[in-house]
Amino acid sequence: MASEMKEKEVFDSESAKELVKELRASFVAGKTKSYEWRRTQLKAMLKMMEENEPQIVAALRDDLSKPELESSIYEIAMLKNSCRLALKEMKHWMMPEKAKTSLTTFPSSAEIVSEPFGVVLVISAWNYPFLLSLDPVVGAIAAGNAIVLKPSEIAPATASLLAKLVSNYLDSSCIKVVEGAVPETSALLEQKWDKIFYTGNGRIARIVMAAAAKHLTPVLLELGGKSPVIVDSGINLQVATRRIIAGKWGCNNGQACISPDYVITTKDFALKLVDSFKCELERFYGKNLLESKDLSRIVNSNHFARLLKLLDEDKVSIKIVHGGERDKTNLKIAPTILLDVPQDSLIMNEEIFGPLLPIILVDKVEDSFDVINSSGTKPLAAYLFTNNKKLKEKFVATVSAGGLVVNDTAVHLAEHTLPFGGVGDSGMGAYHGKFSFDAFSHKKAVLYRGFACDAFMRYPPYTSGKLRL
Ligand code: NAD
Repeated sequence: MASEMKEKEVFDSESAKELVKELRASFVAGKTKSYEWRRTQLKAMLKMMEENEPQIVAALRDDLSKPELESSIYEIAMLKNSCRLALKEMKHWMMPEKAKTSLTTFPSSAEIVSEPFGVVLVISAWNYPFLLSLDPVVGAIAAGNAIVLKPSEIAPATASLLAKLVSNYLDSSCIKVVEGAVPETSALLEQKWDKIFYTGNGRIARIVMAAAAKHLTPVLLELGGKSPVIVDSGINLQVATRRIIAGKWGCNNGQACISPDYVITTKDFALKLVDSFKCELERFYGKNLLESKDLSRIVNSNHFARLLKLLDEDKVSIKIVHGGERDKTNLKIAPTILLDVPQDSLIMNEEIFGPLLPIILVDKVEDSFDVINSSGTKPLAAYLFTNNKKLKEKFVATVSAGGLVVNDTAVHLAEHTLPFGGVGDSGMGAYHGKFSFDAFSHKKAVLYRGFACDAFMRYPPYTSGKLRL
């Protein structure tokens, strides 16, 4: 009954202001700074995952039809690993780092102290809505910050589960979730934060950065781009094909920031590669790709329409050599391969972020580097399959991207010893492992001196004799 229904509270600028005020009071009181608090929160987050795995998997299924195995490994297990690593290493990360000093300040000692920024905002995206929301939060907790998380409204089941779980398991005087879309995010962005961590596309990143600039707030931007895969001949083709499929369709059906966006190969080798794709795709997903339960759906009808626009452009649709089927009711698009796609087509001029894979042809494999570099944007990831040592060296020396992988795709993400982040259009800053702790810490320079050796030359009067010293 309407009279009994609780009116939904509006989250506006005033609410956002109050929220930041409350968190800042907790931060200033020193609640988040102790090792004990950080440890308790990370342990609680682990417990939260252990006790709620079926609910998390169900929310991801609602939002994306994400296969259970992908949810368990790429969202839950990866986050558990982040928590466990932080729990194991945090004490060490928190310790001041000794720094050398020179004759200029002799005698002295110095250290670099990692201090939390304060109250931070994490805005996340819909494609890995659980991991991308909480993985930055792990870093922010480990570094001792108070946190507001704004998950993506495009994955609403996960967003509302996150709101419930975070308030049930974590310290709600220091860590909050705000659900909502543009109005709520805009209200949050008006506030003064000590750091903003944003995951999503470059257009919104500009809005985030402009809002941050008003308060001189530092930002970490995890964005996307067109991540290329160069395929040389003379490789183990079956293994290479499988690894490309795993990074493309096996990662949320191509809706992943480091999914291969397009392939570059030589004219001589292309048909062999296409045959291998067809064979392995059938082995993995069966004859009817639309029926496979091991492929996520497209997140919503807007993205479905966007992808069909890329696919159905006249000069591109004739290039389909595999797939192309679609099911509007269930928002499914089959893994689709397009051969010899013109570089001025729509599909080659925006991030695909879906199950379409164009192949670009070159005369010599070395020409691939020009294709990538002439695009004018730096991808989040770039991949090369080859056995040629010189080609590997040239790849590393000439391709600028957030990260590179030779002879695999997407797996660099799982190595916590490597920074994960973009460059140029694909983002700024990085996280994962200790890099997450660093991303949410100010590195404070501290120099200690005594009262001995008080060099008189630095004090006036500035005589010419002092200049000669
Ligand atoms: P999205 O639509 O979920 O948007 C991201 C966030 O921005 C959401 O929380 C949303 O509420 C907020 N937002 C939307 N419009 C806004 C506005 N006008 N003002 C303020 N906030 C606003 O996600 P998306 O952008 O579609 O995500 C896909 C993109 O993210 C791709 O480019 C992908 O490559 C990139 N991505 C990058 C990473 C990474 O780690 N580098 C990970 C995942 C996705």
